Amino acid sequence: MFTNLHNNESPKMAGARMRLVEELKRKGIANQTVLQAMAHVPRQFFFPPDFEQYVYRDEAFPIGFNQTISQPYTVAYQTALLNIFPNAKVLEIGTGSGYQAAILHYCNAKVYSVEVIKELCERAKLVLKKLDIQVQIMLGDGTLGWPDAAPFDRILVTAGAPKPPVSLLNQLSENGSMVIPIGPSPDQLVMKRMTKTKNGFKEESFGEFKFVPLKGKEGW
Ligand code: SAH
Repeated sequence: MFTNLHNNESPKMAGARMRLVEELKRKGIANQTVLQAMAHVPRQFFFPPDFEQYVYRDEAFPIGFNQTISQPYTVAYQTALLNIFPNAKVLEIGTGSGYQAAILHYCNAKVYSVEVIKELCERAKLVLKKLDIQVQIMLGDGTLGWPDAAPFDRILVTAGAPKPPVSLLNQLSENGSMVIPIGPSPDQLVMKRMTKTKNGFKEESFGEFKFVPLKGKEGW
């Protein structure tokens, strides 16, 4: 299953990735599926060229168009909160570099991802295709979800939102959950997990985070 991805990779890059995974463990990431995916996916493919020394730092990094590839800790944290089961249908909002989508794929999810910036959407499609990672990607306003592919077992929003978009809540399956950073401003967000139950939505709150803003009809 795990072929090709690491052809031509320098031992230095591979070593840096393993050290990052150790760092994530020290910072409290314990989900084995997530750690294995992070150990597997080469972040350099989703990173701007010529910044090799930054690839495996636990930091967000600019990818153009005022957007960033999320900090690895944040990727791992959000993915762990999703509690993905094999073949779960997962919708990501904010494809960006495509890195988070690749991580979801290697957590055995069936991944759908929506990106609003055309150039990023196309670039992510291209890199995932090159790596033979099967993810459905659509250009559009992700606050409206992906009605034709709904319902989803899990929804992951990778940009900061003022409130949970109603369209996304409506596209969750029964017992499905959405992980989304919510707050009054993009640098003051609390990670939330909203789970659809028979009696409405259960809401849980986790740590504080910063994200780029979720734009669009039900965003900023
Ligand atoms: N998951 C990405 C993180 C990208 S940052 C990664 O792994 O690299 C957040 C992304 O959300 C940006 O690319 C931004 O363009 C996108 N975004 C913001 N508002 C959006 C919206 N309404 N619909 C879809 N994407 C959106």
